[in-house]
Amino acid sequence: MKDEIRRSEKQHTLGELAASIAHEVRNPLTVVKGFLQLMEGEDERHKHYYPLILSELGRAENIISDYLNFAKPEFKKIETFPLPLLVMELSILLNPYALKEGISLTHTIESDAVITTDRNQLKQALINILKNAVEATPKEGRVTIKLIEEDDSVKIIVRDTGKGMTKEQLTRVGSLFFSTKEQGTGLGTMVSTRIIESMGGRVDYTSKLDKGTKVSVTLPLTHLLSREPV
Ligand code: ADP
Ligand code: MG
Repeated sequence: MKDEIRRSEKQHTLGELAASIAHEVRNPLTVVKGFLQLMEGEDERHKHYYPLILSELGRAENIISDYLNFAKPEFKKIETFPLPLLVMELSILLNPYALKEGISLTHTIESDAVITTDRNQLKQALINILKNAVEATPKEGRVTIKLIEEDDSVKIIVRDTGKGMTKEQLTRVGSLFFSTKEQGTGLGTMVSTRIIESMGGRVDYTSKLDKGTKVSVTLPLTHLLSREPV
């Protein structure tokens, strides 16, 4: 029992530490990127290095945003809130990004579930899933978010009409560092799954190559309290 408490304290501190470091590292990265972009046109001799440097900086930024898009350094904050509001907020938040990519992002709400959990973390988990959906979808494609209730659980279902996954990719999705993208981190799905599972929930992927992907996030409606910090 004592060990368990100690372990959970340790995880909590590590989570908080990781969050603060990510916040702190993001600022200098932005500054470096800005200066590099300024210098790009002036330095003839090394100009072929710039795309590589910027791409690697982009990857570093992606790592941070997969972990910590909107979470605050105070890592664990349990709140009671209506899920429909969170779904609408996500839809509004990601719409400009989807529109820029020529994709329509819509939501359907069929549950008025109120849940108690770490709102910031749930938001981070869903953002990572939605970002992947948009990234997988070609222009004129669709991404939809649906909120439904089933028995004692609530489901947030994200569907896209994107490139889908092969059977092999489907078995690897969610494992550490698995990515098929040039600047990918392979962290987003793992972080999402860990967050949802720490809330007693589940993430299921189904996918058809060249047709699209469906991600179902199932959360229990009873005892929806995070047991341990992620
Ligand atoms: P990243 O997005 O940085 O590659 P993720 O962990 O978020 O890392 O995703 C891992 C991989 O899972 C992606 O590179 C992609 O191959 C696959 N994937 C995840 N979501 C989808 C999706 N909606 N459609 C197609 N492939 C997906
Ligand atoms: Mg991702």
